[in-house]
Amino acid sequence: MIQALTHEDVRRLIKSQELQSQEAVWQELGWKTRNGCHVCRPAINYYLIADWPVEYQDDPQSRFVNERKHANIQKDGTFSVVPRMWGGITTANELRAIADAADKYNVPTVKVTGGQRIDLLGVKGEDLPAIWDDLTKAGMVSGHAYAKGLRTVKTCVGTDHCRFGTQDSTGLGIKLEKKLWGSWTPHKVKMAVSGCPRNCAEATCKDVGIVCVDSGFEIGVGGAAGMDVKEVQPLVKVATEDEAMEWVVAFVQLYRENAKYLDRPYKWIAKVGLEWVQETLGDEAERARLVAAFDLSQSIYQKDPWAERAKAEEAKKFAPLADLTLEAAE
Ligand code: SF4
Repeated sequence: MIQALTHEDVRRLIKSQELQSQEAVWQELGWKTRNGCHVCRPAINYYLIADWPVEYQDDPQSRFVNERKHANIQKDGTFSVVPRMWGGITTANELRAIADAADKYNVPTVKVTGGQRIDLLGVKGEDLPAIWDDLTKAGMVSGHAYAKGLRTVKTCVGTDHCRFGTQDSTGLGIKLEKKLWGSWTPHKVKMAVSGCPRNCAEATCKDVGIVCVDSGFEIGVGGAAGMDVKEVQPLVKVATEDEAMEWVVAFVQLYRENAKYLDRPYKWIAKVGLEWVQETLGDEAERARLVAAFDLSQSIYQKDPWAERAKAEEAKKFAPLADLTLEAAE
């Protein structure tokens, strides 16, 4: 990327100069490499998706390998497959389908993840379309465990089962996940909803964490539990589930529109300041604009890559190369 421009500069210029293709970015901003490079292309591709969801077409060649393959590549060259489990809830039928897939494709390791999902580890690349097809037929979609996008919304059982529950934390988690899945973000986004301050879903160390209380929902942002461990900062306290949904979606869209690629929310908030985030989202009209912009993007990008890639034509891309060594020896 051109040295004189920061990512924030590039984002600003993409918006103000209405740059709607990678070629326009390279030309208008004086890129030194003609077609960008492996570092800048994923960032530019993301910025264009976020700013021009209608006008720009996603470029799979400008994505990291895990996003191209729709699965995390493992150290032995196999892949991991993680179906989405809305709010961490599953059913006997889904579990049967996962168990059947594990048997059918000789999956060596089946592991429960920290985000309340089931990870099938050690899947061969050529089996990916077929295993996706089986899981799709059982009603499941990709968990996007490989994506710079919404990963998981972890929940506790809340008022459904727990005597301490103050709100329907599981229900809110499922609603959030159904609204936000499939959205591309500058980095991965993890969420959680706990039904009371005992915080069994560990909401206080997520990118967005909601703690339910008797009077409503305390929304915190900018938590993390990875290389850096961060407690969320309080964003707002709201009385209703609808308000909680609106604030979370608006926050995610603000992050989508402004953050540097590969900055998790806590890094972005450290740069722009929590006060600016609160002030911006506190403006009702701006909140509505952000939600509308998010909805528009989702109308284009909220689609299940497994269902698409399992189709015959796409599946060919995952077939192993033919072994021509015997023919060559003859
Ligand atoms: S966070 Fe509260 S409501 Fe949720 S399971 Fe724990 S004790 Fe129960």
